[in-house]
This record gives sequence, C-alpha cells and structure tokens, in this order.
Amino acid sequence: MPVSAHPDLPALERDPVTMRVLVTGAAGFLGSHLTDRLLGEGHTVVGVDNLSTGDPENLAHLAQEPRFQFVERDICRPFDPGPVDYVFNLASPASPPEYLRLGLETLRVGSAGTENTLEIAARYGAGHLHSSTSECYGDPLVHPQRENYWGHVNPVGPRSVYDEAKRYGEALIMAYHRSRGVNTHLARIFNTYGPRLHPSDGRVVSNFLMQALRGQPLTVYGDGSQTRSFCYVDDLIEGILRLSRSGEHFPVNLGNPGEFTIIECAQAVLEVTGSKSTLCFESLPEDDPARRCPDITKARTLLGWEPQITLREGLRKSLEFFRSKAAAGA
Ligand code: NAD
Repeated sequence: MPVSAHPDLPALERDPVTMRVLVTGAAGFLGSHLTDRLLGEGHTVVGVDNLSTGDPENLAHLAQEPRFQFVERDICRPFDPGPVDYVFNLASPASPPEYLRLGLETLRVGSAGTENTLEIAARYGAGHLHSSTSECYGDPLVHPQRENYWGHVNPVGPRSVYDEAKRYGEALIMAYHRSRGVNTHLARIFNTYGPRLHPSDGRVVSNFLMQALRGQPLTVYGDGSQTRSFCYVDDLIEGILRLSRSGEHFPVNLGNPGEFTIIECAQAVLEVTGSKSTLCFESLPEDDPARRCPDITKARTLLGWEPQITLREGLRKSLEFFRSKAAAGA
C-alpha cells in the first residue's frame, strides 16, 4: 500500500514485516548508529536532522541505501513524514559547548520539537522513544542514581537550557502517554562515546582522544576526581532498542555502571593511544556534577540488558575514527 505523499518525501511501499521508522537527529552521533542498526535489521528509516550539531558525513555511507531517506529540517516546525511505526526522538544539541551556544534552540527542540514528534506518533499509532539524559539528575546527592531519584538541578544556571529542556521533555512524554495513550519510552542516557562522536564538541572521551593523538596535553577540569560512567555506543544502541520494544513507560537508565574518575579516564586514553601527552588542569565549569553513575538494576531486570564493552575495549574500537579525524586536522 503506497504511503500517503508528504511534500518532502517520495511515497514508499509499506512492508508488513519490517517497520518504517522515523529517527530525529539522524545525522548525529547516536542517531547515525541507531539508523545503521535499524537498517541492518531490515527496517526502512526516515532520518530527519537540521545539521545544527550533526554531520552529514555520519550518513554518507548510506547514500545508495534505498531503505534510507534523509530529510534536512528543523523538527521544531510541525512536519509529517507519512505513516511510521516507530519514532526515535534523538534531536537535540547534546554536548555542553553546543547547548551553551544553542541555548534557545535546545529549549525549543526539547519542548516544541519533542511535541511535534509525539504528535506524529499519536497520528500514526506509532511507538515513541525519547532520548532523555542523566543530566535530569543534575549534580546528584544520591549515588548511584536510580530512576526514582528526582534530581538536584539548578533551574537557572548556564546548563539549565539542556537539563530543564530534558526534564520538560520527560513531563511531555508522560503526558502524551497518559492523556493520548501514546506508547512512549524514556531512555535516561548516561555518557556514551564511540566513533562519530564529534571530535571537537567538548565531551570528555573525544577531547582526551583528540588531544592524546595530537600529542597535546589532556585538559582536566577541576582536580579530575569527579567521576563519570562511560558507555560504548553499541551497548547503548542495544539498550535503546530493547527499551523501545518493552512495555515500560517510566524512565530507564541506560549507561555503564563502571565509575571512573576523570583522571582514570585520561590514563586509559594515554594507555590505549600510546601517547606521551601530559595532563593540564583548568577550573571546573559551573554546575559540573561531582559524581555521575547509573544504577542499571531496572534495565537489567526489565530488559535483560547490561553493557558488554569495557572502557579500554571501547577506546580501542574508537581509535581508528579519531585517528582519521586527527590526521585530517580536525
Ligand atoms: P549529536 O549532537 O551528535 O546529535 C544530535 C542531532 O540532533 C544532531 O545531528 C543535530 O544536528 C540534531 N538536531 C538538533 N536540533 C535539531 C532540530 N531542532 N531539528 C532537527 N535536528 C536537530 O548528539 P548525540 O550524542 O548523538 O545525542 C543524541 C541524543 O541523545 C540527544 O537528544 C542527547 O541529548 C541524548 N543524549 C546523548 C548522550 C551522549 O552521551 N551521547 C547522553 C545523554 C543524552
């Protein structure tokens, strides 16, 4: 049955076995990996992205893929991709330098943009997964963080554009579930890394890898004793897919419960790259959380999911990508 025409998109035949899936933020780090995985499972993917922080290079390998369509647009303007079976809403600036640069856009995509994707899911009876974040816990007073912890967030600090957009997004998701019966899913994603993480967007692992490969000092903010958990991208995508196929509508933490100090992460990067770089210390950004570590009991129990890839393995798997970026002068 041909899908009803949308001005931006050619009609597609709908396959009864596989799904037609909308991925917002498809040109980003997680969106492009999710797209690859969905296509690998035989689904058809419509990828939407305004390229504000994403890179078309992340999707370049799909140029000849007939089951993939890319639409460049801002999801804050209402749009209709035609009938879809599932919506993965990943669009949002995600790294501190980007959401601080794009503060208003971040608030808008977390609110108006997210609502537009929920309207699409409601219209077509599609499932919907929203990419929320561990930032909902703010600078947490409880360790490790469980989903029933309400968080410790500064609502007016510089990071609030991201944290509060994501918290509002969670409220919106639950309201569409409760009031409109949408089959929603909420992934609270913790630090994730891997190939295609933007080499210069200021996240810990990409910063360290690029600095190590360039032979520059690794920049540690504060004294480096603050902790983070680092999840390799393949593990995270597996968790997202399992959650999307579950009956759970409340938030589920997805991340690696292994807790590393920033100094330990820097040491792992130096070891894996074989770099002789030193460490340099700079002052801690405002509201930088002191500790961040997911309790993934819920994901383990409900989804049978837990990360399989250690930090050192993940760093090794990421090396080729970051080496090519460093060689290209990124
Ligand atoms: P990313 O910046 O690589 O990808 C986000 C994509 O969204 C980009 O391609 C960007 O161009 C696109 N986008 C932004 N605003 C848009 C808009 N208005 N319309 C259309 N497209 C828009 O970031 P990522 O790391 O892939 O993150 C994906 C999602 O996962 C984000 O929602 C982020 O908040 C969430 N998340 C990521 C992590 C992580 O560690 N990577 C952790 C927690 C949550």
